[in-house]
Amino acid sequence: MPPDMDDIVRLSKQRGFVFPSAEIYGGFRSTYDYGPLGVLMLRNVKNEWWRAMVQLRHDVVGLDAAILSGPRIWEASGHLANFTDPLVDCRSCKERWREDHLEPDEKDGQVHCPNCGSTDLTPARAFNLMFKTHAGPVEDEGSVAYLRPETAQGHFVNFLNVLQTSRKRPPFGIAQVGKSFRNEITPGNFVFRTREFEQMELEYFVPPADAPKWFDYWKHERLEWYVDLGIPRDMLRLRDHDREELSHYSAGTSDVEFRFPWGWGELEGIANRTDYDLKAHTEASGVRLEYYDQATNERYVPYVIEPAAGATRTMMAFLIAAFAEDEIGGEKRTVLRLHPRIAPYQLAVLPLSKKDTLVPVAEEVLRILQPIAMCDYDETQSIGRRYRRQDEIGTPLAVTVDFDTLEDRAVTIRDRDTTTQVRVPIDGLAEEVRSRLGF
Ligand code: ATP
Repeated sequence: MPPDMDDIVRLSKQRGFVFPSAEIYGGFRSTYDYGPLGVLMLRNVKNEWWRAMVQLRHDVVGLDAAILSGPRIWEASGHLANFTDPLVDCRSCKERWREDHLEPDEKDGQVHCPNCGSTDLTPARAFNLMFKTHAGPVEDEGSVAYLRPETAQGHFVNFLNVLQTSRKRPPFGIAQVGKSFRNEITPGNFVFRTREFEQMELEYFVPPADAPKWFDYWKHERLEWYVDLGIPRDMLRLRDHDREELSHYSAGTSDVEFRFPWGWGELEGIANRTDYDLKAHTEASGVRLEYYDQATNERYVPYVIEPAAGATRTMMAFLIAAFAEDEIGGEKRTVLRLHPRIAPYQLAVLPLSKKDTLVPVAEEVLRILQPIAMCDYDETQSIGRRYRRQDEIGTPLAVTVDFDTLEDRAVTIRDRDTTTQVRVPIDGLAEEVRSRLGF
């Protein structure tokens, strides 16, 4: 049973994962700030993606392109013309909706305004989702700029730069993680759909004939990434887009979907973008974005397979999948069963009491553990309550320093999931912790 969204939103706020942005001013239009725990967890999601996509491979390099960009990129990519959602207005209450998110009523077959129930809706018109602004002090047509609606395009316009400097050849990829902005008509479901969010995108360039093979490869690879990091397989599925659903550039798209409390929703789209982008930018810029294969003396435009994931949305999926309530020794607890690589803190160092005698040795233990992983340090309240708190924020291991430690130079390691405790000498602590965390 997936948890209630209210549980996730409440925990996020209370424990410092995600706060509504500008809360003291009443909040700002579905934007969110990531608190002390959220920033750690979001960073871990992005780091794990980077580790899998860049660090553990030799065929992918990274990029961090500008967010602010001129209209020529988005004209060439097709976003100015095509990156739209169908917008309908309710004539009665003036709310606006995405037509493709409205379902006809089961009883009368008509589409009703979800806010006031009226059926008096305007026909749909195309609403461009890009945020438009002006670069520089003059606000005229010549200064128009856009906040990128996806990190992709940075990959394509740098294709030659990367090719020339990295000495890679197809099949090879360019990975990028960063903020994207979309003026969503109806943001919602907490951080599932926001106007400012983070993406993790790979553009993988392949010889055209190999595109179907690599498309299948990346579908499989990406699904397994979520499973490896602890999302139960039955909460995930791959869903192929049908023809009508395909984006203007795509010859095939499959989504990794997650079972959210309200139903299946996309975490990531894997698309065969063909040679659409490189050709479009070649045509618009006059610079030939091609690969010249010296071995065969052939010049060709690679096809692109794109796995495009959302970091913020994925972080929420990890929270939902990990959330559990169980009973330990007759006492109810909330526990986040997060994978150690995703959890905000991997370790908590807890001196049994605030007494001066324990603090120096607790600090010594902290200094041993901090280089290994992110450590929380907490000396307030009873030990039982501190364990509960660590369970609730998903810390896999708690290391307790007690009065015996002063005699035997050993500490207790408590496991979040089983709550079992073992005594370990400080000398062997680093090794023990590493092996338990898999670090
Ligand atoms: P949707 O159909 O949900 O609007 P999309 O198909 O337009 O998404 P893509 O363009 O494929 O999304 O973007 C890749 C990923 O970026 C999505 O799978 C999602 O995880 C993330 N993403 C896209 N839009 C948003 C948003 N508004 N808020 C948070 N994450 C988003």
